[in-house]
Amino acid sequence: MSWLLRGWRRWSLWTLLVGLVATLLVTLVWLAGRYEAEQLQAKIERDAAEAVSDVRLGFTRNVQSLQALHAGDPSFSSWREQAALLLQQHRELLRLEWRNSTGNTNLAFVDSPFRQPVFERLGRANALPDVLRACSAALRASGPAYAPSYYVAQIDSLGLEVMELCLPLATSGRHSGYLVATYSLADTLAELVGKQVARGQEVSFTEADGTRLAIAGSVKRGSRIFTAQQLLDLPGNTLLLRMDSWRGPPEIFPNFLSALVTLLSIALITVVILLGKDIRRRTRAERDLGDALAFRKAMEDSLVTGLRARDLQGRISYVNPAFCQMVGFSAPELLASSIPAPYWPPELIDEYQQRQAIRLSANLLPREGFESVFMRKDGTRFPVLIIEAPLINAVGEQTGWMSALLDMSEQRRIEELSRTSQDRLQATARLATVGEMASLLSHELNQPLAAISSYAIGSNNLLQDATNSSPVYADVRTALQRIAEQAERAGKIIKSVHNFVRRRDQAREAVQPEALLQAILPLVALQARKLGVQVQTQVAPDLPSTVCDRTMVEQVLLNLARNGMQAMPQHSLAGPTPAAWRQNRLLIHIQMAKLAAPGQWLEFSVHDNGQGIAPDVAEQLFTPFFTTKAEGMGLGLSLCRTVIEQHGGSLSHAPAPGGGTVFRFTLPAGTPPVAAPHLIASPPESPHGTLT
Ligand code: ADP
Repeated sequence: MSWLLRGWRRWSLWTLLVGLVATLLVTLVWLAGRYEAEQLQAKIERDAAEAVSDVRLGFTRNVQSLQALHAGDPSFSSWREQAALLLQQHRELLRLEWRNSTGNTNLAFVDSPFRQPVFERLGRANALPDVLRACSAALRASGPAYAPSYYVAQIDSLGLEVMELCLPLATSGRHSGYLVATYSLADTLAELVGKQVARGQEVSFTEADGTRLAIAGSVKRGSRIFTAQQLLDLPGNTLLLRMDSWRGPPEIFPNFLSALVTLLSIALITVVILLGKDIRRRTRAERDLGDALAFRKAMEDSLVTGLRARDLQGRISYVNPAFCQMVGFSAPELLASSIPAPYWPPELIDEYQQRQAIRLSANLLPREGFESVFMRKDGTRFPVLIIEAPLINAVGEQTGWMSALLDMSEQRRIEELSRTSQDRLQATARLATVGEMASLLSHELNQPLAAISSYAIGSNNLLQDATNSSPVYADVRTALQRIAEQAERAGKIIKSVHNFVRRRDQAREAVQPEALLQAILPLVALQARKLGVQVQTQVAPDLPSTVCDRTMVEQVLLNLARNGMQAMPQHSLAGPTPAAWRQNRLLIHIQMAKLAAPGQWLEFSVHDNGQGIAPDVAEQLFTPFFTTKAEGMGLGLSLCRTVIEQHGGSLSHAPAPGGGTVFRFTLPAGTPPVAAPHLIASPPESPHGTLT
């Protein structure tokens, strides 16, 4: 849930940043555009004002030139000459007229050589009232006056917007007439407005409603138009000069500022994209790191090995849950602790401090580790195996020590347990062997003792019938009596020894077959490891218990397993190949026996894949003291058979399928058979007879 929130927050921050950057860039571009537009507008305003002043100056100059025509009272012909000359120099002037003092009569006139005579088509009369009004105004003002402009259609169908100027003339201080000059407004713009000003712009005279009267200059059209208007005040007439300038659509970078802002924007966007990529990479790395950390944490938490990191001063910087569990202190308690550590037994603090100083100062630590004793929070001591390694940081410097700790108490307990059970089994084995020997001796001595006794009694009886008064006679009879008594006594002693062995019958108890197996497995495994043998066990489910002398039956199982393993080819511990290990297999199997005999029986079998039993060996297998081993006693199997038969079962062997031998023995399941406890006393088929 939190990562969702984090992701949402990161995205919203990114959106905000991109939004802000975009707004900033748009604003900057817009401001740059606006600034540029203002610059252009200011320029066109300036140009318009300049154009107006150009026109005004031109008009003033022309007035002077026109006045110069009449200087020195010219004749009509010379006036015409001068006027024609003037018209040649000033294309904006279309016609010059010399009118009389009322203005009604045209005394002389000259048309511009560059055009058709302007009034040729429509005649002069139409515009005359306006001209006369201007003239009277000019006379009043004693200066030039302009009539309102008007349109004159031309023969070639092109019309002209013209404006007339009336200039009062005076001869010797008296009003003598008027000079009327006709201006073409279009030519006025073309001629009088400075070429620099008009370049690339359109200049026109317009009416107040925007109607264009005359236009000069043409520009390429564009999407944006800049317009400036200026009034041209003339005596008697006012013209509106308009200047238009277009900016073409393809000019994306119209000026340096816009280009710079756009370039900066592109750079900024690129940086934002790169930053975004970088952050995405970092986020991915962060996620990978988080996964790796979670994996490491899960691994550390699942470990049963305690982990502890210490800095170079010996203070704890890290502990894993297994270590906390081991010593019973919480991680914060351990991290806050100083030296001596809280898990050091107080009586060993001095020793540990010295040991730590030596160990931390030396760079080489034994990889196989060392044993120590730690104290739990409740004060109990326990043995630990510590393996230490230097802790190296990302730049290769040593920052402390990392230790792996194993709680050895369980291992110690198992070792102790298996040692005591081994001692117990060995003692029992010795006792059983002594018992077996006693049994054998009793069997072997029984006959000679019985014979001695019989012979002594027989001799005594013979002597009793014979009459002999020799003093030796009585002594011989007494001696024979004593011999018979001593033989009987020897028989009783042997019987008492036998009874001692038989007393183990009372040690019987109900045991689960699996428990018998589990009791010997550690010892079997120990020997199997030594001999390079794989041990397998198979116990059928839901087996009933058996009433037996537990220790003796365990001894039987152990003997059979040991014999089986010793019958396999031996591999030296130095280099058993895995294949060889796999070849040597011992299987201990417990199941219900399928026997014709009454009652329920458990069958224990020990399979080995050893060398098998040769026929001549098989014959003597159970014979006491028969052995093929250098250090063997030859009592193992005979003892096993005695024990099993004492329990009412039987022990047999057979070649195992696939090579080797299988030894099987049976034990009664559930309650013991009634005869079982007395088997040793009177076994009908037992090879060992009773002593008496
Ligand atoms: P010991 O083990 O002291 O020799 P045992 O009575 O246990 O005495 O065994 C007698 C002999 O029987 C052994 O020396 C061995 O030759 C043979 N023997 C016993 N068990 C096996 C077996 N599983 N495979 C082959 N031979 C065996």
